[in-house]
Amino acid sequence: MKKEEKRVVVVTGGSRGIGRAICLAFAAPDKQVFFNYFSPADPEGEKAHAKKTEALVKEAGGFAKSASVNVALETDVKAFFKEVLDETGRIDILVNNAGITKDKLLMRMTEQDWDAVLDVNLKGAFHCTRFAARAMIQKRYGRIINIASIVGVIGNPGQANYAASKAGIIGLTKTSAREFAQRGITVNAVAPGFIETDMTAALSEKVRASMLGQIPLGRAGQPEDVAHAVAFLASDEATYITGQVIHVSGGMYI
Ligand code: NAP
Repeated sequence: MKKEEKRVVVVTGGSRGIGRAICLAFAAPDKQVFFNYFSPADPEGEKAHAKKTEALVKEAGGFAKSASVNVALETDVKAFFKEVLDETGRIDILVNNAGITKDKLLMRMTEQDWDAVLDVNLKGAFHCTRFAARAMIQKRYGRIINIASIVGVIGNPGQANYAASKAGIIGLTKTSAREFAQRGITVNAVAPGFIETDMTAALSEKVRASMLGQIPLGRAGQPEDVAHAVAFLASDEATYITGQVIHVSGGMYI
C-alpha cells in the first residue's frame, strides 16, 4: 500500500495509559498514527514514554510519530495539525483522549484547578476537533472519538472540574455529530469507568477499594478494553453509529 493511501489517525495523549493502548489498536500496515503528549514537569520522562509508544506500534507492524503539544493551546494544536497535514495530506480518524485531573472538594477547588482541567479536557478536544474536521470535510470522511468518563454522567465527589469537563465532552460529541453528519463524519464518545492507568494509580487504597466494589463485573478495566471500543467506532463496521456514548465500565453505569 502506498503511504498516501494509508489512513491517518491522530490520538491526543498517546504516550501512556489509554492513549497508548489506542495507538496500539491502530498499529497496522494500512494506518499511520500521529500522537501527542504534554508534561512540562517532566519533559524527558514523558518523551521516553512517547518513544516507547512509537516503538510498540512499530513492533506491532504499524507506524507512529509523536510530538509534544499542549492541546489546551490553539496555536500549538494548529501547528501540530499543520505538520501532520503537510506530511500526509489527510486526517481520517481523531481520538480526543488527552486528559488530566486536579481533584478537590468543590469548596476547596480554586479557579486555577477548574481552568486547568477544563482547558485540557474540554477546550483541547474543541481545538483538535475543529482542525481535524476541516481536513475531514474536504475528503467527506472522518471518524471522531472522544474519551469521556462515567463521572461525566453520574458525577463524583472531589471531581467537579473533571466531571464538568467530561459532561461537556458528551455535549460536544452530540453536537458535532449533528453538525458533521452530512459531511460523512461520525462523532462518538467512549466513557470509561475505572481503568488501570497512572491516573487511577494515584488514588488511595480506600478509594480504589470503594470503586472496585461498585463494578458489577468485579474487576478494574484495562486500557485495551477502552481501545477496543475506540477501534470499533473507527472501523467500517460502525458507519451507521453517530452521536453515541459507549460505556466501558464493567457495568458501573447501567
Ligand atoms: P494518563 O495515564 O494520565 O495519560 C494521560 C495522557 O494525556 C498522557 O499521554 C499525557 O501526556 C496526556 N496529556 C496530559 N495533558 C496533556 C496536554 N495538555 N496536551 C496533550 N496531552 C496531554 O491518563 P489515562 O488514564 O490514560 O486517561 C486517558 C483519558 O481517559 C483521559 O481523557 C481520562 O480522563 C479518560 N478516563 C480515564 C479513566 C481511568 O480510569 N483511567 C476513566 C475515565 C476516563 P504525558 O505523558 O506527557 O503526561
